[in-house]
Amino acid sequence: MKPAHLDLLLSPINKLKGVGPKIENIINKLGISLNIHFLWHFPYKIIEKKYYDNIHDAPINTLVTLKVEVLKHNPSRFRRQPYKVSCVANETPIDIVYFNARHPVIRSILPVKSFRMISGKLEFFRNKFQITHPSTVEDVTKIQLLREREPIYSLTAGLNLKYFTKISKQVLSSLPNLEEWINSRILKQYKFFNWKDSIEKLHNPEIEDTFADKNVFRRRLAFDELYAHQLAIAIIRLIDSKKKSVAFKNNNNLKNNLIKNLPFQLTKSQTKVLEEIKTDLESNTQMIRLLQGDVGSGKTIVALASMLTVIESGFQCAFMAPTSILAYQHYENISILLENLSIKITLLTGKDKGKIRKEKLEKIRDGEVELIVGTHALIQEGVTFKNLGLSIIDEQHRFGVYQRLAFNYKGFRPSILVMSATPIPRTLTLAAYGDMDESRLIDKPIGRKPIMTSGLSLKKEKQLIDRISNKIQKTSEKFFWVCPLIEESQELDLKAATERFNNLNKIFKNKVLLIHGQLNEKEKENIMEKFKNEDFRILVATTVIEVGIDIKSATTIIIEHAERFGLAQLHQLRGRVGRNNQESFCILLHKENLGDTAKKRIQIMTETNDGFKIAEEDLIIRGPGEILGKKQSGLPSFNVADLSFDSDLLEEAKIEADNVISDDPKLLKDKNQNLKNLLYIHERDTAIKTLGAG
Ligand code: ADP
Ligand code: MG
Repeated sequence: MKPAHLDLLLSPINKLKGVGPKIENIINKLGISLNIHFLWHFPYKIIEKKYYDNIHDAPINTLVTLKVEVLKHNPSRFRRQPYKVSCVANETPIDIVYFNARHPVIRSILPVKSFRMISGKLEFFRNKFQITHPSTVEDVTKIQLLREREPIYSLTAGLNLKYFTKISKQVLSSLPNLEEWINSRILKQYKFFNWKDSIEKLHNPEIEDTFADKNVFRRRLAFDELYAHQLAIAIIRLIDSKKKSVAFKNNNNLKNNLIKNLPFQLTKSQTKVLEEIKTDLESNTQMIRLLQGDVGSGKTIVALASMLTVIESGFQCAFMAPTSILAYQHYENISILLENLSIKITLLTGKDKGKIRKEKLEKIRDGEVELIVGTHALIQEGVTFKNLGLSIIDEQHRFGVYQRLAFNYKGFRPSILVMSATPIPRTLTLAAYGDMDESRLIDKPIGRKPIMTSGLSLKKEKQLIDRISNKIQKTSEKFFWVCPLIEESQELDLKAATERFNNLNKIFKNKVLLIHGQLNEKEKENIMEKFKNEDFRILVATTVIEVGIDIKSATTIIIEHAERFGLAQLHQLRGRVGRNNQESFCILLHKENLGDTAKKRIQIMTETNDGFKIAEEDLIIRGPGEILGKKQSGLPSFNVADLSFDSDLLEEAKIEADNVISDDPKLLKDKNQNLKNLLYIHERDTAIKTLGAG
């Protein structure tokens, strides 16, 4: 049960005044869906609108605040004509100007003979001062505090600052007083203020550099966030740690059979990692292991062989992929590999509805299926396993840590193997999982040729088109053409990709397909299937193909505006080709004049195919802050904390969380009750649910 005093904070924003469905949608785009999210949406800058007693001292074309007396209204008589309100600042005339204004509104905020404090950009137009659409108009007699500085929040189309502020104020001005949850030693050491003060200060225009590394108010909240995260991890991992997992010990007939019948030899790394996993599985404690391996290093086989060990012991396995396309692909591939082994396998995604879903769920519950491939649908309500022994989580960077750990299963703890193609720095795994064992696939399957990578200026596009045209005529090879993400706007994304599609489709009639994020999963799958099986040669895509698409006949990937991508992302995209032993190519189309960083990135890409090396270079170029940043869709995403300068807090938070939980694993002690507030505030409710269940 959520505590009542957190009601306001944990409510969805649509209960606030002024938030109808339309505004709600718009505000959601800022990542704000619960009231609490307003707290983390800090101003990104402060603007000055200095007060001038004498208008002649005020700089033109600058935001200023003036005191004016309203003299006369001059409403517009036809459309397009502005509505002017004649005023004086001391003795000097000034017009307040509105376009397309609603007359009664202006009359009510600027009544004749009243004195008003007005902020806005001061202009000098036709020999007269004027302010057009002032940002604030306040009654001088009612004004308590002259705000010469105003916090500015990042917004999105359809939302203005005034409206946003009005809405967020409803939350920010009613923060509850919460009992302190940080111990006094830490409070003292870091000179932290209390929770409420820290938030209020961060939204207060007097504070410079809200996000600065040393801003003590932000640091306090960063600590909270990291602490909540570490507590949640500790709770989830420790709550029933005394319950052992199962030792999956058997003759490994299934696994050996699979390996024997593979059309290839396992690489050295694959063999080594399989041994590491075997040791874990045979022990009677839960395995939590991260398997890192570059795109194409053969993680799937490792996962599959491991699952067979568990299945042979009579337990079920789940294999979770981030999208239904990928889940379907894995399902298909695995089914083929298991053809001779009579293992009962099923696919569960969000698309299974009604009767079909019901039947599948029954089979999963009754243990009639042993291997379940799926998406998030696997961890949704209503899915009960008979006896889940091992969960594989593929391409983990698309999942939230709790979803991954949600597989913790009543009775005993299923083992977890998380697979990632993006090498993850140690700080990050620590932040995400607490401690976790690691395996790496270092060598590539033999016979795979490195992908030839080159940079090409967009100016030489024609040359590229000729090359493609030549190949299309002479071979049956296929091409990916990736269009970049544009400033987080899906509409613009799509526009750019559509333009590219139209352009290519004119040249290569009926040979081009377009796939993008706004299609539903079914549509995407259809397009992928068509691309795979029919005579389509170029697939134009927004970055939706970033993760795990396996089309062997694709030999070339063109990445348009490669300068807009990070190294890790470029490498990930490049891995879409080179999946067989044909020569493959990656062409990084870039704008003519590159900045230093972009130049360096493209150079590194052309020089190496080694994902671990690229990750290291990435760290050097960008610094950990960027890598760990939110945009990377990299592991845990924090609202306040930034691991590039809060890693000291992370260490502190981890130690503190481990201490608390080992002393009071279920948070039953009185002194720890307020930690539940903390967990709710940072939406680590899953941990609280775990407490209830344990
Ligand atoms: P990833 O690590 O990117 O998930 P996959 O597991 O999808 O890679 O493997 C990529 C391709 O390489 C698959 O077609 C797989 O069958 C093949 N493969 C895996 N291991 C080997 C190997 N040892 N030798 C040759 N091909 C392999
Ligand atoms: Mg894979």
